[in-house]
Amino acid sequence: MQITEIYKSLQGESTYAGLPCVFVRLTACNLRCTWCDSEYTFQGGRKMSLEEVGAEVYRLSPGGGLVEITGGEPMLQEREVIPLMQRLLDDGYSVLLETSGERPLEKVPAGVVKIVDVKCPDSGEGETFCAENLKSLTARDELKFVLASRADYDFARDFIRQHDLAGRVNAILFSPAFRKDASGARDSSHCLLDPQQLAEWMIADSIPARLGLQLHKFIWDPAVKGV
Ligand code: SF4
Repeated sequence: MQITEIYKSLQGESTYAGLPCVFVRLTACNLRCTWCDSEYTFQGGRKMSLEEVGAEVYRLSPGGGLVEITGGEPMLQEREVIPLMQRLLDDGYSVLLETSGERPLEKVPAGVVKIVDVKCPDSGEGETFCAENLKSLTARDELKFVLASRADYDFARDFIRQHDLAGRVNAILFSPAFRKDASGARDSSHCLLDPQQLAEWMIADSIPARLGLQLHKFIWDPAVKGV
């Protein structure tokens, strides 16, 4: 499979936020979100076998722990990434899959926690979510909405109500989008939507979602990759 990077850091944006985690970042994406902070994954990378990826994960986190499969869009390499996820589960790792949900998810091993990033209108990739994937969600999965405006918030709120998602997944996450050219200050000034404003909307609507901030962008310079 084509890999951009494998590194160890803290998980940054789910109910697993704050936990040490090995990230396996696959190359290539078929979407072009306006605020994407991972454009460096769109090309390049290096070809690695399942065994080579497994060995690197083991070197970084011997004998278990949390591994996130991300990208880019990892499900573009479904043929290779599904056996990889199964191998990691068999080796005792907890496996997270970060995906846009544009590709079919029904073949993802049941033990994997899917973190599905449903694209909102301001991403420029709204309408790309494959509705069939709602059937593949389990009580361990998480749905994430990255929000840049009130229109995005309204879309996310209506989406979870329309599909009655509150009780079907482990968590629904509302996260302000970050400016993709952010650097320097490690604070919310880079957010495209003020977290305080988002919090007030969520409180007013008693929304069954939790506010998430991209933890790593408050720990490291937002421009730093591989953290
Ligand atoms: S799906 Fe993810 S990697 Fe692809 S363009 Fe959107 S934010 Fe970037």
